[in-house]
Amino acid sequence: MKYEGKTKVVEIKEKEAIISFKDDITAGDGAKHDVFAGKGSICAELTAMAMKYLNEKGVPTHFLEFVPPNVLRALPLRMFPLEVVVRFIKAGSFLRRYGGIEGEVFKEPIVEFFVKDDERHDPMVCMDHLEVLNLATREQGMEMKKIALEAGKHLKSFFEMAGFELWDIKFEFGLTTDGKVVLGDEVSPDTCRLRRKKDIYDKDVYRKDMGDPIARYKEVLEACRGIVSL
Ligand code: UDP
Repeated sequence: MKYEGKTKVVEIKEKEAIISFKDDITAGDGAKHDVFAGKGSICAELTAMAMKYLNEKGVPTHFLEFVPPNVLRALPLRMFPLEVVVRFIKAGSFLRRYGGIEGEVFKEPIVEFFVKDDERHDPMVCMDHLEVLNLATREQGMEMKKIALEAGKHLKSFFEMAGFELWDIKFEFGLTTDGKVVLGDEVSPDTCRLRRKKDIYDKDVYRKDMGDPIARYKEVLEACRGIVSL
């Protein structure tokens, strides 16, 4: 079975998934869309490095192998239609929803759940909604929250080693064939906020029309290459 999304093509085989990263970039629930040559390979390699790092820290991910330039071999997962966001520092939709000051640090990281539904602009949901809307069981929800916090903590250190501050990050989870909750999808500047001093190294460069996002993504990739070898 083959699925094509906004930024990836996923081919599910019996024992593995083949994930090809595209050069497409989108924002605003798909309203803004462009193609940047080389973007897919940057995000694929960064995802591979981040997930290899997480696997080594004992955080379960779908990552098996990086096949250059832009493909990952991964465990086949049945994905939950959810986005799980871990926030360390206030930005983005948190500020639009609740106010506050951009850059303010949370005492403890917080976790938010959103349903993947572009038409409804990915509404936020709580633990009770997960069951009522048949999105996941409460136990699976708790497991996702636990893994998200653990993955967030390790990736914060990972990006710190590369010289970047991780403000927030979005995760997606799935179930393995034997029913385990594991981290799927990607970890890249498309799915998190990475800052160095006041400079932006993530998709906000594209969202806010602040120049060439790929030059920034490349800097992140090169800085992370020293941390994990693939
Ligand atoms: N994010 C994402 N996909 C989405 C929505 C958000 O990868 O569909 C990421 C986003 O890049 C950021 C984090 O999740 O790192 C939190 O995003 P937020 O809820 O603040 O929304 P935004 O302001 O980015 O629309």
